[in-house]
Amino acid sequence: MPLLDAEKLKENALTSIRLGIEDFQRSQIPFDQGGDPERALSAIRNLFAGVLLLFKYKIATSVDDPEHAATLIFNPPEVLPQADGHGGVEWQPVGNFKKTTIDVTTIKKRFDGFGIEMDWETIDKLQECRNHLEHLHPANTLGEVADFVAELFPILRDFVHSEMNEQPADLLGGAWPIMLKHHTFFIDTIKECAEAWTEAAVPKLIQPWLEKCQCEACGSSLIRPDSDDLDDGLQVDEDDITFRYECVACGYRDLIAPLIIKSLSNDFDYDPRDGGEPSVERCDECQRDTFVIHEQQCLWCEVELDYKECNVCEEPLRQDDQANGGLCGYHHHVYEKVMRED
Ligand SMILES: [Zn+2]
Ligand SMILES: [Zn+2]
Ligand SMILES: [Zn+2]
Repeated sequence: MPLLDAEKLKENALTSIRLGIEDFQRSQIPFDQGGDPERALSAIRNLFAGVLLLFKYKIATSVDDPEHAATLIFNPPEVLPQADGHGGVEWQPVGNFKKTTIDVTTIKKRFDGFGIEMDWETIDKLQECRNHLEHLHPANTLGEVADFVAELFPILRDFVHSEMNEQPADLLGGAWPIMLKHHTFFIDTIKECAEAWTEAAVPKLIQPWLEKCQCEACGSSLIRPDSDDLDDGLQVDEDDITFRYECVACGYRDLIAPLIIKSLSNDFDYDPRDGGEPSVERCDECQRDTFVIHEQQCLWCEVELDYKECNVCEEPLRQDDQANGGLCGYHHHVYEKVMRED
């Protein structure tokens, strides 16, 4: 069994978080002003690793015996079936505990086992974000990194407070006020952006996908309607071919409608190789790719089908079936045939 030093875990966690915040600060300053955008990725790596170390520290200190703690943190040996020599089977651990420590999935299981609460949805999202950023150029991630730090903040605050019974400001030292300030800025800006969008006439049914849009240049979710377009009286629902968003983080401007439609189709993503079928298609009424097939409605212009199900077999109908006067393709075909024979 490898030795486990819980205090060392905590120390490493705090170092990692401190380095992560330093990297974050440097990454957000332009190169010519002494910053280093290239540090974005190491910011995320350090912060995420630091949080996982804190989680492991919590698990390790949930039991009194250091040897028990080690069994919780190091990866256990594999348990394999062996013949018991009497025609039966025995499940036996093979080999020793490994030198590697548990990953996110196992941390989750340990938390469940010890009744430690966590917002796993956000942790999963942050992990996904970290993996995704590994493949991008740092310059295209600065906004997303800023989102990451802001979303990590409440997790860290609540965990230190309620699970470690410590004051975040004491435990995290200088990293704390930086995170706090950034988080406050982020929340205020999100609110301002949301208010600004209410002036822009985004079609109501599509609004949930506006909230998921990120700047195409830097990945930030802090995007607002372009002030010039608003001043010119443009409206997203009518003027989607010209209406632009403006990124608060990097200043980039581009069309908002394609971004919304992309986030809609990402959500209704399908894989033709799995025999999947597209679930969003072009709307016959408004010609936008926003008609959700199973909802039988366009989320942009709100048009609904005249005939929703086949009068004979009650199968749901699609846009293509509307010319059949309330019948599915098959029953329309049968009906035509009968008419011809008469
Ligand atoms: Zn941006
Ligand atoms: Zn439509
Ligand atoms: Zn039918």
